[in-house]
Amino acid sequence: MRNNKKPFNRRCASCGRITDKSSLLRIVRNKEGHTVFDKTLCMEGRGAYICRDMACVEKAEKKNSLERSFRARIDRSDKEKLFEEIREFVSG
Ligand SMILES: [Zn+2]
Repeated sequence: MRNNKKPFNRRCASCGRITDKSSLLRIVRNKEGHTVFDKTLCMEGRGAYICRDMACVEKAEKKNSLERSFRARIDRSDKEKLFEEIREFVSG
């Protein structure tokens, strides 16, 4: 049974901390096999989450945490764009 009153917790793919979805960044692997940053939190596809924290983001990039989370390779150009967007989002 599902308890809708529970906070929507997700695990960070980088540090493993479980926290509310609203304080995480969502990354989506879509049907086309592209991995993109989901600013809106409602894109279709399989999601992975990273803390809204540059240390976590950088660790995820270096350690390929998202690849592990999706169990799939991420296109180099997708990955560059994805992390560029995340950096902009977190710092701005
Ligand atoms: Zn984290």
